[in-house]
Amino acid sequence: VWNNCLEFIKDNIQPQAYKTWFEPIIPVKLTDNALSIQVPSKFFYEWLEEHYVKILKVSLTKEIGEKAKLVYIIKMENTYGNKHPFTEKIPSSNRSGLKSQEVDIPLQNKNPELRNPFVIPGIRNVKIESQLNPNYSFENFLEGDSNRLARSAGLAVATKPGGTSFNPLLIFGGVGLGKTHLAHAIGVDIKDKYPEKTVLYISAEKFTQQYIDSVKKNNRNDFIHFYQIIDVLIIDDVQFLSGKSGTQDVFFHIFNHLHQNGKQVILTSDKAPVDMQDIEQRLLSRFKWGLSAELQNPDFETRVSILKNKLYRDGVEMPDDIIEYVAKNIKTNVRELEGAIISLIAQSSFNKKEITIDLAKQIVEKFVKNTKREVSIDYIQKIVSDYFQMDIDTLQSKTRKRHIVQARQLAMFFAKKFTKASLASIGSQIGKRDHATVLHACKTVDNLSSTDKQFKKYVEDITKKLSI
Ligand code: ADP
Ligand code: MG
Repeated sequence: VWNNCLEFIKDNIQPQAYKTWFEPIIPVKLTDNALSIQVPSKFFYEWLEEHYVKILKVSLTKEIGEKAKLVYIIKMENTYGNKHPFTEKIPSSNRSGLKSQEVDIPLQNKNPELRNPFVIPGIRNVKIESQLNPNYSFENFLEGDSNRLARSAGLAVATKPGGTSFNPLLIFGGVGLGKTHLAHAIGVDIKDKYPEKTVLYISAEKFTQQYIDSVKKNNRNDFIHFYQIIDVLIIDDVQFLSGKSGTQDVFFHIFNHLHQNGKQVILTSDKAPVDMQDIEQRLLSRFKWGLSAELQNPDFETRVSILKNKLYRDGVEMPDDIIEYVAKNIKTNVRELEGAIISLIAQSSFNKKEITIDLAKQIVEKFVKNTKREVSIDYIQKIVSDYFQMDIDTLQSKTRKRHIVQARQLAMFFAKKFTKASLASIGSQIGKRDHATVLHACKTVDNLSSTDKQFKKYVEDITKKLSI
């Protein structure tokens, strides 16, 4: 009976949806007109009820007749345990060792919008593209003291996704040190070893955007369900979630669901968990459940081998002394290191010049000058409060004292100018203000610095301090 039902359902819904929602179902028994099926979780049952009740009803009625009934047996969700609950057929719910709960559900459609049984809302996009960049592989991620821990933790996770204590694995470190590369490498390797696993790479920014869209379009639940069926979730730059409490909340629920079901979560951040601001405590404590591994500045040897590997892959030859010169002078950012080598190659081939130490000098100099050091909002607050000889707490306080208000407004203004943070995120990091306050601060600073000489000097002094 069930097989015939499946045939019918298969013909009428998307293949991926069929695979996700119907293949895991185990038929248990047929008594009188009631078919019992076992589903892996309560959530699964709710999803079936919400989205597939019509098609289930139609198919069952075809097989059994008008009196057809469906009984769901929910396999209790226990934290880890049975990784493959479906390999074994369980003939009845009272069999020992299996905790299950029978839910007798009359086939009624709770959702009046489901008029046409063959139009299933919300699941058309179930097919998941991993969004992984195959060039960001482990092979291309050179090992050194600076990344050994993070790299080997990544390899361990890739070998047994969800099966190590590194869950979540949080990779943190400064700009351009390889966080995104390593996060992709783990995903790429998992896809290689376990092609059937659903892996998804997404930046925290895009995740936030999707979430906001889902709220606007009234399909927040679809958004959550989508993320809950992923086996390996990689979220890049989670510091972006700071101050965004709605997104943090939804991520918290998704995280818990995945973690409880033994799914792997991989996160990256430009800060260690202890330094993350405006991330809810309950999320921070989850981040610390697994392993936080830092990517540090690569040492000289590692920088040289990264450059050599890059040149080798690009099929370019370059004298060792030049490579070493570049590696000696660019120390804190692998992206800049690669950038310098690329412009060196470009320069020499445009001008048909030989690559000499002199040319390397020119380029490295220009390169180091041109790449503005990224400043953080923390750093700006520190510089501004030092400048006015107050501490950061005072700068952030609620006081209306004029000089403190001005200092705070300057900090907001510089945060807008020197970082990519949104107004809302600047506001939340500088004393929990809203985006309108930040906008007002930026306008006030603009006005004052064109009308008030003293104020103009503040702006110039602090600008200087920030750009060294
Ligand atoms: P982040 O996300 O930390 O800002 P990325 O992952 O974008 O940094 O890395 C910047 C660049 O440096 C990328 O092109 C990446 O391939 C390269 N890179 C970083 N670390 C390594 C490494 N250990 N070996 C090879 N390339 C690296
Ligand atoms: Mg990155």
